[in-house]
Amino acid sequence: MCAPAIIQHGTEEQKKEHLPKIAGGEIVWCQGYSEPGTGSDLASLSTQAVEKDDCFVLDGQKVWSTNADRADWGYILARTEPHVPKHKGISFFLLDMKTPGVTARHLPNIVGTYCEIFLDNVRVPKENLIGGKNGGWKVANTVLGFERSGAHRIAAAWRNLDRIIEFTKETKRKGTPLFKDPLVRSRLTELYVEAQVVRQLAYRIVWLHSTAKGRDIAYEVSVGRLAGAQFQQHVASAAMDILGSFGVLEPGSKWAPLQNFRREYLYSLAATIGAGTAEIQRNIIAIRGLGLPRA
Ligand SMILES: Cc1cc2nc3c(=O)[nH]c(=O)nc-3n(C[C@H](O)[C@H](O)[C@H](O)COP(=O)(O)OP(=O)(O)OC[C@H]3O[C@@H](n4cnc5c(N)ncnc54)[C@H](O)[C@@H]3O)c2cc1C
Repeated sequence: MCAPAIIQHGTEEQKKEHLPKIAGGEIVWCQGYSEPGTGSDLASLSTQAVEKDDCFVLDGQKVWSTNADRADWGYILARTEPHVPKHKGISFFLLDMKTPGVTARHLPNIVGTYCEIFLDNVRVPKENLIGGKNGGWKVANTVLGFERSGAHRIAAAWRNLDRIIEFTKETKRKGTPLFKDPLVRSRLTELYVEAQVVRQLAYRIVWLHSTAKGRDIAYEVSVGRLAGAQFQQHVASAAMDILGSFGVLEPGSKWAPLQNFRREYLYSLAATIGAGTAEIQRNIIAIRGLGLPRA
């Protein structure tokens, strides 16, 4: 998510420093966008960054940051100019998570990877700014464009669908193989059709990213994001119905079929929240895609 933003907006030094480690999977990154009072309306964020000597000093709090408690680096949005329209006063910082004043704390929740980040007098060198002072909104949206593309989520959901199909071939219920149940067959074939559609959307978005050359493709990305997230939920929900009561068992239980579907199901609930909710994707499609006036 962050690498394409570094490629598009970063300096040569930033590219040299970060891209090889990202490509090599050597370091973990986290995203510091959301705040306790800021989610969908991201531009209203209130974490502050004040320019001082050779650095910016960050103060504020982030929330729902995936993997922040084990991240080496984070990319953080902060307000550098309070007296301009809100999206024009935001900057985008690369933050070494070991910097004094940074605390990441795990937030207990149903799937387990989210954190709060507290920033207390955190000094970030000026060379860690991307997109220039007050130029962070553009960079933030580049990240969101790639985050929402989400081909990996569609691929994962497809793999889950394959596993469920295999399960229905191998499992009998009341002496009859599951695959003979007409409701199961109908559900699986409908999901297969949906899988083909979202896969084509994912390829199209990859193609759009590689050919857009600055053209706004946000609404097309949102179409893929929404359809992909819904596909993820449809697969997880069908899996739970087909696995029956055994599906809710903890991974590790000898009675838990396919082991991790409970987590897949719980995680799927978040698919239409993270990276911008389904409602926000629909707003983008309505306004930028259909040309409808703002409601
Ligand atoms: C799995 C997951 C991972 C996440 N990872 C990260 C991360 O790594 N870093 C990070 O910074 N954040 C992360 N988030 C946070 C995520 O970006 C926010 O949850 C999301 O943007 C929604 O913000 P909110 O939770 O504050 O909800 P709110 O913005 O308060 O929305 C509440 C409800 O109101 C609706 N709503 C709000 N505004 C409108 C509108 N204009 N029109 C119609 N409906 C509206 C929303 O759709 C939603 O249903 C993650 C969230 C999840 C679920």
